[in-house]
Amino acid sequence: LFFTFEGIDGAGKSTHIAALADAFTAEGRVVTLTREPGGTPLAEKLRELVLNDAMDPLSEALLMFAARRDHLQQVIEPALARGEVVLCDRFTDATFAYQGSGRGFDLNVLRQLENWVQARPDSPQIRQPDLTVWFDLPPEVAAQRLVAARMPDRFESQPQAFFERVASGYAQRMQASPERFARIASDLPREAVWQQVRQAFEQRNW
Ligand code: C5P
Repeated sequence: LFFTFEGIDGAGKSTHIAALADAFTAEGRVVTLTREPGGTPLAEKLRELVLNDAMDPLSEALLMFAARRDHLQQVIEPALARGEVVLCDRFTDATFAYQGSGRGFDLNVLRQLENWVQARPDSPQIRQPDLTVWFDLPPEVAAQRLVAARMPDRFESQPQAFFERVASGYAQRMQASPERFARIASDLPREAVWQQVRQAFEQRNW
C-alpha cells in the first residue's frame, strides 16, 4: 500500500505521518517512511540542488522527476513488492502544486513526465498512490502557524499569493482524481485533524 501526504508548508503533515507510521507498526505491518524530494542518497542530493539553487523551471521539473525515478526504483517499488506500507511525505501532486500551479510550469509537460517516470513494466497503469492525504489549510493560517513556531523564513521567502496558487493546484489534482484523495480540513486543533486522518484510513478498511 502506497500512501502520500500533501499540503502547503505549515499544514502540519509531519506529526500525523509519524503517528500513522506508529499505528501501522502497532498493527504488525512493516512501514517504510520516506519523503520527496529525496528518499535515496542521490535524490537527497538532487533535493539540495532543487530547493537551494536558482534554475529555470524545466530544469527544476526534470530534477524533481529524476529524483522521483530514483526513489521509485530504489525504495518505493521494492518496498511495495515486499508488501510493506509506504508512507511518503510529498509526491507528484507536490510537483503539480509547486512547480506547476505555484511557479507556472506547463501542467501538460508535468503530465508527460508523470506518465514516463511512473510507468511500470508489469502494468499498463502508471504507479499512483493508493491514497493521498491532503492537509488543506488556508495559506494565511499556515503563515500564522509558522510564525508562531518561529519558522517564518520558510514562508516569507514567497508571497502569500504563491501559496494560494499551490493550494489551488492541490484542489485541481483532487478534482481530477477524487477517489484517490482524502481532504483533511486542517484548520482545527491537532487532535481533530488526527481524527479525520484516522477516519480516512478506517473508511477504506486498510
Ligand atoms: O515538505 P518539506 O518541508 O520537506 O518541503 C521542503 C520545501 O520544499 C518546502 O518549503 C516546499 O515548499 C518545497 N517544495 C517545492 N516543490 C516541491 C516540493 C517541496 O518547492 N515539489
